[in-house]
Formats: sequence, structure tokens, C-alpha cells
Amino acid sequence: MSVGTEETLTARAEMAVYGVQVDAPVRRSKGAGPSDDGHLVVDGANATLPIVADSPYQVRDGAVFRNGLNLGLSVEPVSRPRFYDLTTADGVPYQQIALLHGKDVLATTVVQTCIRYDESTRCRFCSIEESLRSGATVAAKTPKQLAEVAEAAVRLDGIKQMVMTTGTTTGPDRGARNLVRCVRAVLEAVPGLPIQVQIEPPGDLSVITDLHSAGATSIGIHVESLDDEVRRRWMPGKSTVPLAEYDAAWDEAVRVFGHNRVSTYLLIGMGEDPDELVAGAARLISRGIYPFVVPLRPMLGTLARTDGVLPPDPRLVREITARVAALLTEAGMRGADQSAGCAACGACSLLSAAGA
Ligand code: SF4
Repeated sequence: MSVGTEETLTARAEMAVYGVQVDAPVRRSKGAGPSDDGHLVVDGANATLPIVADSPYQVRDGAVFRNGLNLGLSVEPVSRPRFYDLTTADGVPYQQIALLHGKDVLATTVVQTCIRYDESTRCRFCSIEESLRSGATVAAKTPKQLAEVAEAAVRLDGIKQMVMTTGTTTGPDRGARNLVRCVRAVLEAVPGLPIQVQIEPPGDLSVITDLHSAGATSIGIHVESLDDEVRRRWMPGKSTVPLAEYDAAWDEAVRVFGHNRVSTYLLIGMGEDPDELVAGAARLISRGIYPFVVPLRPMLGTLARTDGVLPPDPRLVREITARVAALLTEAGMRGADQSAGCAACGACSLLSAAGA
């Protein structure tokens, strides 16, 4: 099967929802990312897939089989990186500062707490503070620590880009300004490393220029849904930030960072009308913003998981992904062209498998 074919996308959508049987040394179980998965390389591209012991998809000898049939997809688990063996000068294991995502992405949640984490206001798909509670990370990473880890990760493990996200803080900038210092420190240690910053609309939009001036390559301002009813239901706290503030921040970000250097997550599986989701994605694309459509996979520690919410039907994931990928291709926008960030990594979405 080759990339972008109907069958490939169908199989990939099913693998993204039903998971695969494979031993994956690099995994994520909690945190700010969208899913608890194993990190793999499928047909040469990053992929995060649920590791499921009784999945109909089995990985053997670098290939994927279903009912004994070799599907012609190559799969390699990502190896444990060497930088995980190190500890910072102030005694913090590197793995508690930043993680390997995919085969070549360094990802960190700079502030691991969120002002909205109380159950009544928490985003139902998020478990940012669970990895803190489990001792897997530290509450706040310093610019010096991030620089130290980034330098080692590039030198020892060939990291190609970095993603910096943050929990929302009390300040009017919602945590964005702190990332300016972090980007600067990392680029002093690793000049030229493509970095994506991920923030909420920062109140004072001049922070977006400061992030770009500090050297950030691309920016994610994640709304997860453009449907206010869905937002209120799934993100009771975050939905108090009006869509108008996102629009202003996105337009400013496109002005400062450029076309196809701005992205947002749109989650598939929160009950949004598929046609409206795709229409919303089309509007974003027309403004130069990359809609990173991702299947919702309720993670351990999330309210969604506690409530027994199931991932979406793979057919819905396939349909929405294919339609958004066609719009992106028509607009000449590829995730890889963002050079840093989730859209460039592509692991948590099927858009790259659909050619976008
Ligand atoms: S798409 Fe983003 S969250 Fe997912 S593995 Fe890649 S960098 Fe991490």
C-alpha cells in the first residue's frame, strides 16, 4: 500500500484508534499531549499509536499485519534516547525536563500546572498535572535546564526540532512571556534549532512579536474546537476565552510568523458536526493557519477517560482527515513546511499519512 491511498488511510485510522500490538520503548502515559501512546516510525514518518495487547494490528519484523496479511506498511519503534541517561547540573533527570516525541522531536511542558485544572474548569482531554503528581516531571523548567537538555538531545540523539508548550498561568499573557526567555536560552545553546511555541491567546499581542524575535520558528495557538457549544462542554475554563481573541491572536501570529507557520489543534471525537469541523478548517486554511486535526484518544488521568469516553469511529477520523488534507494540498500547505511543532512532527495526526 502506498501513502495517501484509500486503504492506507483506512488502516492508519484504525491503527490510530484500535492501536497496535508492539513493544515500544518510548511511550507517554500522561501529560499535556493529546494521547497516551507509543512512539513509532511508520513508513518513515513519526506516528503515535495506542499500544494495545489485543489489537487486530500486529507489528512483526518491521511490518504491520492484520489477520496474517502484511499491509505493506513499515513500522519501527522509536528507541530510547541517550539523553534520558543524563541529569542536569542541579540534579534533575533530563527526562523530567523534556521528552522525545517521534524519532526527532524534543517536547517540553515548561510550566506543568494550569490555573484551570480544578475539575470544574479542566479541559476534559487534559492530564497536564497527572505527570507531575506521578513524579515523572517537575513543575517548572528553567531556561538554563531547557538549554542544557536541548544541547545534549541534539548532540547525542540528532533531535531536529523542539516543541515548547505551557500550562496556563495567572498572568495576563497566560504564560507566553516565560517562553520568550526559554526560547532565547535554548537557541544560545543550540543556534538554529527550529522551535515551536504553543500558547493560548496572550492578551497583549506584542508577546507574539517577542516570541518571534527570540527566535521561535512557528507557533501553535490551540483552540481544539471552533464550536462554542462543544468548547463549553469539553473546556469549561478555556472556553471563557472568546473565539474573537483566538482570531486576533491567529491573525497577528500569521502577520509576524508568516503563512503556514501558525497552527491549531482541532480534535475529532468531541461530538462536533463533521461538516462544520471541516468548514472551520477551511476558513483557517484560507487565513494561512494549519488545522492539525487529531483523533481524541482519552488519556489515563483525564476526565474523559474517567467518564468512559471512547475514541471516535475510525471511519470518521479517516473522512475528516482526508477532507482536510485535500483542502491543505489545494492550498499548498504541508505540515512539514512549518519546520517545527506538532504539524511538522505529524505523529498525533493522520494528515501526513494523507499527504498534507
Ligand atoms: S504531534 Fe506534537 S504532541 Fe504529538 S508526538 Fe509530535 S510533537 Fe508530540
